Order: sequence, then structure tokens, then C-alpha cells
Amino acid sequence: MIEKDKYYQFEELTKYENLVHMFTKKDIDFNRKVKTIDELESQFSEIETILGVKFRKIVFPYQEHTNIVKSVTEENLDDKFLSVDGTITNLKGVALVVSAADCQSILLYDDKKKVIGNVHSGWKGTLGRIIQNAIDLMVKEYGSNTRDIMAFICPSILKCCFEVDEDVVNLFKNEFNDIEIEKFITKGLIKENKQKYYIDTVGINKEVLINIGLKEDNIVESNICSKCNSDKIHSHRGSNGSGGRNISIIMMK
Ligand SMILES: [Zn+2]
Repeated sequence: MIEKDKYYQFEELTKYENLVHMFTKKDIDFNRKVKTIDELESQFSEIETILGVKFRKIVFPYQEHTNIVKSVTEENLDDKFLSVDGTITNLKGVALVVSAADCQSILLYDDKKKVIGNVHSGWKGTLGRIIQNAIDLMVKEYGSNTRDIMAFICPSILKCCFEVDEDVVNLFKNEFNDIEIEKFITKGLIKENKQKYYIDTVGINKEVLINIGLKEDNIVESNICSKCNSDKIHSHRGSNGSGGRNISIIMMK
């Protein structure tokens, strides 16, 4: 990724002149429970300045770790998007936003049909295959061909730091009986009498995307772990849940 003072960008996405995007770093905090509306607005203005654009509309869903994805149209543009964790659109000037602190945000782009998406996929969303729902909706609503869709997985907690107990491992094993789930799970140490495991949720989302027709070359990982880099990125586990949020944002000009 390209790293600047206040944000990261995917080099591959910067090639498209009709698009702007970024993943913000720790200087900027988008936690809605802490920041006032004025503070959030001034941060979005700062992002407009950095990207050299004006947002016609900012779609910032009220995420609840669901697997629900909505298409943003002229008709629902002013909705609040409550309990929604992913959005797609073909509207220009509409910025799709996801906030995260360890969870994956995944940017989607179909250059042929000119459709963008932004999906919040924490471990619960990953378990609910939200990324598959987003791709299915792009195909259904905009006629995208999965071979043309590109996916960009922003900095998030990677396998090195995503430590879980057996209950979470079992949820993944039960859900993903159609993929070789074992290769994404590593047994860790026993801590306080509990066997610990590490799960590669990025690898699982990548496998899901390939299985529904995305080309492997069209899936770009940041390879940046939010917890390992919690000096630069808001990380829930890297800060004992102190609450800051990064955002990812994508818009077609
Ligand atoms: Zn890590």
C-alpha cells in the first residue's frame, strides 16, 4: 500500500482516474459514539481536501456486524442505513464509508459496469459471508460479472493477532464446510487452561471470493495487521478496546 501521513491507499486503485479512495490512520478518529456530528463533518471536509473532491453524499451505515448489504440509489440516498454493514452503488459523487478497528473493510470495484462497494467484514460478517452477499448484489442489481470485480482488503487484524477460543473455531468449521477451513486455522498455546487458536479471516474471505468467480489477481490484500501497527492504526485489540475508528472510503467522480 501507499502510506501517507494520514492515510493509506491501494496503488492498484489509484490508476483509475474516475475513482477516489483512502483508508485513514490514527490521526483521524471516526468513532460516532465519541465524536460530535460537527467533528465528523470537519474530518470529512479534510478528506475532501486531501482527495481533491466534493462529496455529493456520504453514506456511512450504522454497522451492527450483520451480513446485510444494500444498494444505494437515488430513491434511498437519504436513508440512515441502520443495521447495514455493506453498500454498493453506481452513483457518482456518493462516498461509501465503512468504519473499523481490526475488522476488515473491503472495497469493491467493477470498472466495466462502473459500480463500487464497501463492506464491513469483522469475524461475524466473515462468518455470515457478507462479502458474498455484496458480490451477489452487484451481479443482481448492476449486471456485474464476477470476473470483472476487484476486491481490496484494507488493513485489519491478521492471523498473527486474531486469537480466539475453540467456540469461535467451531463456528467457522461448521459454516465453511465447503472450503478447506483447516488451512486457515492454527492451534496456539494453552492460556489459562484454554486452548487458543489463530484464524486467517482474510484468507477465508479471499477463498470465498475466488469460489464465486473473482480472479485471484483481482483480490488485493493490504498485508498490514492493525494490531501489529496499532501505533498508526486504530486497533480494538491493540488498545484494549479504547474505541478509535479508522474509515475506508470510496467514491466515483
Ligand atoms: Zn498482527
